[in-house]
Amino acid sequence: MRVLMVASECYPLAKSGGLADVVGALPPALAALGHTVLVCLPGYPSVFAALDAAAEIDSYPELYGGPARVLRGRAAGLDVAVVDAPHLFDRPGHPYVGPDGDEWPDNGFRFAALAVVARELALGRVADLAVDVVHAHDWQAGLVPAYLALDSRPRPATVMTIHNLSFQGQMPAAWLGRLGLPAHAFGADGVEYYGGVGFLKAGLYYADQLTTVSPSYAREIQGSLWGMGMEGLLSARAHDLTGIVNGIDTTVWNPAADPLVSPPYDADTLERRGEHKAHLQAQFGLDVDPERPLFAIISRLAWQKGTDLLVEALDGAVGAGGQMLILGSGDPGMEERCAGAAAVYPGRVATWFGYNEAFAHRIQAGADGIVVASRFEPCGLTQLYGLRYGCVPVVAGTGGLVDTVTDADTDPDHGTGFVFAAGDALALRRAFARVAEAYADRERWRAIQRRGMAQDLGWTRAAQAYVEVYERAGASRHGR
Ligand code: ADP
Repeated sequence: MRVLMVASECYPLAKSGGLADVVGALPPALAALGHTVLVCLPGYPSVFAALDAAAEIDSYPELYGGPARVLRGRAAGLDVAVVDAPHLFDRPGHPYVGPDGDEWPDNGFRFAALAVVARELALGRVADLAVDVVHAHDWQAGLVPAYLALDSRPRPATVMTIHNLSFQGQMPAAWLGRLGLPAHAFGADGVEYYGGVGFLKAGLYYADQLTTVSPSYAREIQGSLWGMGMEGLLSARAHDLTGIVNGIDTTVWNPAADPLVSPPYDADTLERRGEHKAHLQAQFGLDVDPERPLFAIISRLAWQKGTDLLVEALDGAVGAGGQMLILGSGDPGMEERCAGAAAVYPGRVATWFGYNEAFAHRIQAGADGIVVASRFEPCGLTQLYGLRYGCVPVVAGTGGLVDTVTDADTDPDHGTGFVFAAGDALALRRAFARVAEAYADRERWRAIQRRGMAQDLGWTRAAQAYVEVYERAGASRHGR
């Protein structure tokens, strides 16, 4: 199958979140299954810095305020089509946010330009480039399925993936014409969303098939609690919506060959984790004590991530004899609360604020439990890294967390971690006690760790599931 992937981020070329990881990892996994993938990306400076062997394949005299070219080449091992439109994308730093910390006011036009280019690539404007399915990611690519469905030319199938429903790309109704959308599309059965033009809404309405990043999140977004206004449309399209859990890069996240983790270890040499734990305890000012279960957080500090719940339940971790190490960045108020809690429990609770990739690896290698207390979590990566590293996940029962971790008390034969009721600090406090009890039984603990480490977390399974969705999209193409 020939896939055109359209996204505003792609690891390692441009990243603001998990979307980038998927767009960077899924194409090679699809290629390994025999499919060809072209990734259509905005020409940010970071993309050009990595672009190799590029040739111009298309051009536009005017595309939202200036001329544009489309360059095809290689970047980060991927076949890419890059929209070279300096007036839209030659801006350093964050893909969506300017130096003042605000979103760029022309984001709607920037990503409409990306969608126009993707539409033309999909409809055969460039000779020798055939496309069977267009895979659009998040609101920034939401217009792609709409443009294709509203075009009278024969088109490939379309798939729209939601990575996080809370980002929706809502634009003013007055932009309809400038976005190249016909007046008849401005309705509930079209691109209209709460009186404006909804980019994500457009994609979710017009795409042949929809996916999100876990089966549980796929169910949750059909309800009013986490549907964020889209629940009506999503439940009406429930039969077209599939949840596919993200894979992880098992070469980057591999305790047996991680350059940041020395000595390396695997499921048969788990005792080596003790060295990593002692090192962490010393480095972060915790009492060096192998007997205390060391819990860790590696997270954005934010409401979604339940940082406030964690602070509320922290005394439960300490009361159960444990320690807590918090690596995080984000909301300054949340940082202050975490720091305040650490001051109450010297030697037992430690914090490090900022983003630090090396610490993230070393914490997964040395901590006993990785805590993810999210209120909602489309997929979540932290618990997957924990499983791979024998750092037992202690997770809220929501979204991708509940799809990837099995509670060891509820299902002793298959348990890989501990699951507590999402949004409930008391349940988290109880979970700390449950973990401490399991940790004290070393044989049981090792079994939990080993089951997690044996779980298949790579991209092949996910890529196979996407191929099935692409096939369904082809079959249902004329349905809308
Ligand atoms: P989200 O994308 O919603 O923040 P995920 O669990 O999907 O949550 O992904 C979070 C990723 O960011 C993980 O790879 C995690 O290790 C990493 N991460 C989060 N905070 C930090 C931090 N302060 N330092 C290092 N890595 C972090």
